[in-house]
Amino acid sequence: MLPRLVVVVPCYNEQEVIPVSGPVFIDAISELVEKGLVSDDSYALLVDDGSRDETWSLIAQLAASSSRVQGVKLSRNRGHQIAVYAGIANAQGDLVVTIDADLQDDPAVIELMVRRHLKDGCDVVYGVRADRETDTVFKRTTAEWYYKLLKKMGVEVVHNHADFRLMSRRAVDSFLEYKEVNLFLRGLVPMLGYKSGIVEYSRSERSAGESKYPLAKMLSLAWEGITSLSIRPLRFITALGVVISMLAFATSIFAFGAAIAGVSVEGWASVIIAITFFGGVQLFALGLIGEYIGKLYLEAKHRPKYFVEERT
Ligand code: UDP
Ligand code: MG
Repeated sequence: MLPRLVVVVPCYNEQEVIPVSGPVFIDAISELVEKGLVSDDSYALLVDDGSRDETWSLIAQLAASSSRVQGVKLSRNRGHQIAVYAGIANAQGDLVVTIDADLQDDPAVIELMVRRHLKDGCDVVYGVRADRETDTVFKRTTAEWYYKLLKKMGVEVVHNHADFRLMSRRAVDSFLEYKEVNLFLRGLVPMLGYKSGIVEYSRSERSAGESKYPLAKMLSLAWEGITSLSIRPLRFITALGVVISMLAFATSIFAFGAAIAGVSVEGWASVIIAITFFGGVQLFALGLIGEYIGKLYLEAKHRPKYFVEERT
C-alpha cells in the first residue's frame, strides 16, 4: 500500500501567493502520485491562520476545483507555529510534510523527502538549507549566533532547518502527545527521537506578497525557543547568585578589616555603583523568573491552542 501524503501549508494573508503556489503544490503531489511514490488520495492541507484578506475564499475555491486540496480555517490568527501544529493535527495521512506557502521552500524537495522515508525508513526528514544566500547579512549572522546560543542552552535543533520537514504517522502521533501551548516546533521534533535524515535544498525568494514574519515576531519566536525548552537561564541565575554572594562575602571581610585598621574610604561612588549594579542584576533575574512563571501559568491553564472555524 502506498502511503498517503499530506502537505501542510500555513497561510496568513497570502492572497497574492496562493494563486501561484496552490497549483504548484497540486502539481507536486500529482507528480508523486504518477511516480507511484504516494497514494492517489494524497492532498495539500491549506491552513488559514485567521487571515484578514481573501486567503480563505481562495483556499475554498482551490478545494472546490481540485480533490488534491483541502482547507482548514482557524478562528483567528494564532501565529505560524500553531498554524503548522493545527495542520499536522488535522492531517489524515501516513506522511505529513510541512512547508511555507510562499514557495521559499522548494516543493520539488518533497519528493526527495518521501524517497528518503521510503528507502531508509526515516520517521523524520529535515529540509536543511544548503546556503543562506537569499537572507540579509543581518539575518544570517543573528541566526548563526542564535543557534549557538540555543545549543549552549541545551536545546537541540537541526542546523539551518526551519519548519520544512516530513514526518511519518508514527512521528506525528508521538509529536501530538506534546501538550504544551508555547510551541517551538523545530526544538520539539528532534526530541521525538526515531530515525531521522536530512535533505538539502536552496531556499528561494518569496514568490509574491510580503513576509508575514516581521522582526518582532522573529524575536518572539527566538525567545520562545529558549524559554519554552530550556531551564538553563534559571540555573544561570542561581549560579550568578552564588558567585555574587561569595564576592560580597569577600568584600565584607575586606571592608571589616579596613574598618578595624581605620582606613575606611568615603566611598560614595562605589556604593552607588554597587546599588545600581545589583539592582540591575536583581531586576534581570526577577524578570527572567517571571518569564518562566508566566509560561507555567499559560501551560497550567491547558488552553486549547486553536479552534477550527470552517473546513472545505
Ligand atoms: N504564517 C502564518 N501565520 C502567521 C505568520 C506567518 O501561518 O502569523 C505563515 C505564512 O503564511 C507563510 C509561513 O508562515 O506560509 C512563513 O511566513 P513568511 O514567509 O512570511 O516568513 P519568512 O519566510 O519571511 O520568514
Ligand atoms: Mg517566507
